Amino acid sequence: MKQVLEKIEEYKKQFEEELNKIESLKAFEELRVKYLGRKAGIVKSLLDLLRTVDREFKPKLGQEINKFKVFVEQSLKEAGETIKKKQQELEEKKKFFDITLPGFKGLEGGKHPLTITRELIEEIFVSMGYDIASGPEVESDWYNFEALGIPKTHPARDTQDTFYISEDVVLRTHTSNVQIHVMKTRKPPFKVIMPGRVYRKDADITHSPMFHQIEGLVVGENITFQDLKGTLDTFLKKLFGEKARLRLRPSFFPFTEPSAEVDVSCIMCGGEGCRVCKGSGWLEILGAGMVDPVVFENVGYDPEKVTGFAFGLGVERIAMLKYGISDIRLFFDNDIRFLKQFR
Ligand SMILES: [Zn+2]
Repeated sequence: MKQVLEKIEEYKKQFEEELNKIESLKAFEELRVKYLGRKAGIVKSLLDLLRTVDREFKPKLGQEINKFKVFVEQSLKEAGETIKKKQQELEEKKKFFDITLPGFKGLEGGKHPLTITRELIEEIFVSMGYDIASGPEVESDWYNFEALGIPKTHPARDTQDTFYISEDVVLRTHTSNVQIHVMKTRKPPFKVIMPGRVYRKDADITHSPMFHQIEGLVVGENITFQDLKGTLDTFLKKLFGEKARLRLRPSFFPFTEPSAEVDVSCIMCGGEGCRVCKGSGWLEILGAGMVDPVVFENVGYDPEKVTGFAFGLGVERIAMLKYGISDIRLFFDNDIRFLKQFR
């Protein structure tokens, strides 16, 4: 009898220790089975022991075993509730969402400075009644050179400048090829601008092997040099502001006659002279001229009936001036620190 009572005391201590260690519902269930299991539980083994003791001790011992049983049941009940509560709190914590926390701001995309510049130029010409046309970047020799009056011997055809795909196919060296496509498919009068990528073997801080041009072409009856000058004057004032002044210098292009180099009064110093304009007060910005009658003949127009003018400019050049960028390579490095400044 004494041994059994001692055993109960021992079990009680052991149970309390084990109960304290419990953290999960699974461990809790295992503990319950260990003590209260109907087949092999500790309480059951004590009751089995009860059968073996002398009759006189049975009531007292039975009471003790029952007390132990109630104690275990009660303790488990309380502990079970605590564990359940803890787990519920944990679940709630997981679900908790602080709506007052500031959100994470994702990286916002923006337009490339060259796209912004191109769209700005397009907008100006569209507001003046121009259509936008495009043409192939991989071009036949005839469209890129021959039809524009650039003979085989012209320096522009030097392999130093041109990327040849094959003997008769090139990466276009200018957007002027689109002039030919437009004239072969349209009847005058029309006004078009032709933006696009062009390619030349050239690379330094102001030249990139791929860059962007916008070409303009106006063809109709009685189109004069004065129309060209007026158009460019309006364009430059819309692009750089009302104070911008225009200057024309005689020049040569194979597909225009007469031809002019077009300067704008320096947008940095207003014409006073500075580092950007190298002290001259002027910035070279466009090439232009009256369409050479030979070009009209090449596309089947009658040069006696129609006249026209063409002009071309570099988008990078305008963007560099407008944003004060000194190295053309910045446009193509894809450095997000540079690009994100142009939102
Ligand atoms: Zn200047």
